[in-house]
Amino acid sequence: MWHFLTLATVAPCIICYEPSKLTCPTCKSADYCSDECKKKDRALHTLLCKEYSTFAVTNPKPIDEYLSTHRLGFLFPEDSKTPQLVWVKCKLEIGADSTCRERAMLKEYFISGIPEQTQKHIRSHSLQIFKEPIHHRPERNRNQSIQHLLRGYGCPDFPVKGPHIVLAFKRPGYDYDTPDDIQEPVYQPYQDVRLSDLRLALNRLAQDEKIFESKVPNEYMLPNLKYWTSAVKVSTKDGDMRHLQVDKYREVKIHDSSDIFRNSTEIADVSKHLGFPVHVQKCSPASLWDTPANHLNGKAWFNREIEFLMMGVNANNLETWGHPDSKKWLKIPTVLIARKDEKDLTVHQVEALVRYCEEELSTSLKDKDGAHYSLEFRKAQAEKYLCKSAFEKFFQELKAKKLSEGEMSWVGTVLSFEPSRPYLGTVMKESAVQDSTKKRGLEFKPNDGGEKSRKRATGSGRK
Ligand SMILES: [Zn+2]
Ligand SMILES: [Zn+2]
Repeated sequence: MWHFLTLATVAPCIICYEPSKLTCPTCKSADYCSDECKKKDRALHTLLCKEYSTFAVTNPKPIDEYLSTHRLGFLFPEDSKTPQLVWVKCKLEIGADSTCRERAMLKEYFISGIPEQTQKHIRSHSLQIFKEPIHHRPERNRNQSIQHLLRGYGCPDFPVKGPHIVLAFKRPGYDYDTPDDIQEPVYQPYQDVRLSDLRLALNRLAQDEKIFESKVPNEYMLPNLKYWTSAVKVSTKDGDMRHLQVDKYREVKIHDSSDIFRNSTEIADVSKHLGFPVHVQKCSPASLWDTPANHLNGKAWFNREIEFLMMGVNANNLETWGHPDSKKWLKIPTVLIARKDEKDLTVHQVEALVRYCEEELSTSLKDKDGAHYSLEFRKAQAEKYLCKSAFEKFFQELKAKKLSEGEMSWVGTVLSFEPSRPYLGTVMKESAVQDSTKKRGLEFKPNDGGEKSRKRATGSGRK
């Protein structure tokens, strides 16, 4: 058990979990290992630092009653951007097995989920998030404070609604130097939140967010870039481009545990053959447009470029040859595109891929006169155009053209092909499994500054 003794006996740094050396002099409620970590926490910390230091004076704790007391918690209000401090009445309850536990007197609220892995680092206590039962929430407004703190993240289809309250509770048997597996059912009191818990609460609230999409960085969240990848959205003219005023191609960040990497998401057939396999997933952005459905133009679901990208290229199948599967790809809204190998994808690469399909493949593979080409012809064309080298050549020509037109963002763009290995071989599958278990943690912990070997060469991530 010696290794437990090496664990810190002081509160860990809220940013990197190393033993802390500094404490905020104003609120005395947040610990850091270094000025650097302190600086990273600043935007979030300053929201409540001053208030925390004076709260007990300006809002004295209500007088305790028999078997009940008040604990300091965070309120994420639905109608303002800033989280607040609140006193929550907690009552001591004695169970049949003579265990004691406190219950927060939050009528109409329920505890959302169990303590999460993000909080494991703070071994002495854990957090509970309280929100209203789901049937109350439809009438509620979007939670402005959570929306503000998680700006750019998440799924606007499922906005967080209603107020949220966060309380901290002691974890019995969990001390900084106690192993995880001791769990005695003993007295479990709540305790006042420390200001450092605000970050843990935010991480917990963000843990289901798998996409970040904003031109403005979010200064409150500190995502671990190791788990985030650049992907590209391709919009429709009468959809996102009109309603959100965005470009045709735009970069977003997606979490490695994002849906799109699951096997069920389609991989564009063409891209497999070009050594550049990409997943393509339809987005359902209608609610994001804040436009009544009947005001939407049917063309919002007309994504011409993606029709080309999704064309079938199996020479043996004349029916789908050169066309997308009309059952699946009849109506195409904005799509999200991500590399199968989870490497970063750029807007330039996607534009080149899509244009290759449209400008090169669609004419080369298709029958101009309406006559059916022979199987031999299709096979020959596939061999000639559905390969890395043809795509690379097209890419270089497009790049040269863009540069000559003064589009300087193309300087330095390259195609990075998937390592040459069988597209679907057992060897590759095994290594992919190993790779993903190693890399894909469940934790949503802040950037630890290390282990960024895999990617991040672009450095375009959020700060
Ligand atoms: Zn630190
Ligand atoms: Zn402070």
